[in-house]
This record gives sequence, structure tokens and C-alpha cells, in this order.
Amino acid sequence: MSSLKGKVAIVTGSSRGIGSILAKDLAKEGCNIVVNYSGSEADAKSVVDDITASGGVAIAVQANVASPSDMTALFDAAIDQYGKVDILVNNAGISIYKLVKDTTEEDFERIFQINVKGVFLGLKEAATRLQENGRVINFSSSVTRLMLPTYGVYSATKAAVEQLTRVFAKEVGARGITVNSISPGPTNTDLFLKGKTEETIQRLASMSALGRIGEPEDISSVVLFLASESAAWVTGQNIGANGGFA
Ligand code: NAP
Repeated sequence: MSSLKGKVAIVTGSSRGIGSILAKDLAKEGCNIVVNYSGSEADAKSVVDDITASGGVAIAVQANVASPSDMTALFDAAIDQYGKVDILVNNAGISIYKLVKDTTEEDFERIFQINVKGVFLGLKEAATRLQENGRVINFSSSVTRLMLPTYGVYSATKAAVEQLTRVFAKEVGARGITVNSISPGPTNTDLFLKGKTEETIQRLASMSALGRIGEPEDISSVVLFLASESAAWVTGQNIGANGGFA
């Protein structure tokens, strides 16, 4: 995908999990990367070190995606360093797995702040600061297609992300910018594994057509396609990357 050479990509939440692999894969394709994190500074620096050791270009920038001033500063840092932003991946997210009756107002506020307001603030910056023919890829989840108990509020945040994606695609399409969301299925990261028994993990793995959970690389390759010139005619879509889970 040589069309990515020289592009500048901000990947929110790329200190760990899917985002960290995606940052490294975009760098291998020749993108200059902004590795964003909120608290995991050492992990973010390690992602930058891995990229630079492989001949790539990256900086780490601390920013809480739920903070308007932090999101503006994240774009400022990218433009100060590289002169432009071509690709925004709104990957940062958190999960809360609780029955609705057990979900507190604090849980609700926190997850909507990061998963929905974080994406909204990224889109607001992208609306005026992304290059022509830029790319926005937002992270939803395949649980919006299922009715899994304990996923109520988490899946509600992702449903909001999918709808923002569809509307925003129409708002920026005139500048050649594409806007899509990706819906991973269960993927081998802390966010999915935390608090789950081996039995639960195997049960969820067996729900996919391919009989396993995803790896971050399975998701990264689809984001790379959406970020590339090859996906110029794909916009306003939600793409499942879930091994047939849903
Ligand atoms: P993860 O391993 O828990 O990593 C989450 C990343 O987001 C970390 O780098 C974290 O950095 C960052 N982050 C969290 N809050 C942030 C904030 N307020 N501001 C900036 N960064 C923040 O999660 P993951 O599994 O890779 O998930 C990535 C995305 O995929 C999420 O949107 C998630 O909902 C979605 N997804 C995941 C799965 C799955 O099974 N794993 C399935 C479907 C969808 P810090 O540690 O520095 O905070």
C-alpha cells in the first residue's frame, strides 16, 4: 500500500492493544505517526522506540481524548511536527461490562466521555484540519449487532460512533475525505480479556465462523485498507472485522 508513504497519521490510544499494532503497521507503510496515550507513557514511548528502530518516524503525545483542549493540542502537536494530518484513527476506548441495573451513573458518564465525546472531539478537529482526501477511521464494535447482556452501555457508545460516522462522511465528502468505522469482534487485548474466565473467552471464540478470537493484526490490516487510496470509494460504512462473529 505505497499510497500511504509520507502520510501523517494520528492514532488515538496507541500505547497499547490494537492501536499500538496499528501505529507500527502504518509506520511500516511509510506514515509518520502520532502515538497518543492518556496514562501509559512508558508503553507509548516503547511503541515510538519500536517504530524508530525499524526506520520509521513517530512521536508520542499525551492527550485525554475526552478533553477538548487536549484534542486540539494533539492536532497542534502533529502539525507542529509534521506540517499536516492526513489520517485520524479514533481508536481510544474503554469497556464496562455490567448489567444495566448495576451500571452506575459514573460508569455511564465515563464511558460516554471517552468512547463518544472522544470521537466527537476528534471529528471536530478533523473537519477543519485534515488534509484534502484525508481518512477518518472510527472504532465501533461488533456487539452493536448482538444483544449480549452486560454490553448495554458499551454497545450504546459504539452505536453512537457508527451514526456519527455516517453523518460526518456526508459533511466532509466534498473535500475527498472518507469516514468509516470498523467493528472488531473479540480481540486479544486487555480490553477484551480483563475479568473474563478462560471458559467465557472460549465461548466467545466459538461464536466466530473461524473458531478463534481476533488478533490486533487482523484489525490493523483492515484499517490499513480503509486508510489507503484503494478505499477511496468506501465512505460512510461500518466494516465488520470479526471472523464472522456477527
Ligand atoms: P486496550 O488494549 O484497552 O487499549 C486502549 C487504548 O486506549 C490504550 O492505548 C489507552 O491508553 C487508550 N485510552 C484509553 N482511554 C483514553 C483516553 N481517555 N485518551 C486517550 N487514550 C485513551 O483496548 P483495545 O482492545 O486495543 O481497543 C481499541 C478499540 O477497539 C476501542 O475503541 C475498543 O472499544 C475497540 N474494540 C475492541 C475490541 C476487543 O475485543 N479488544 C472489540 C471491539 C472493539 P492509556 O493506557 O494511555 O490510557
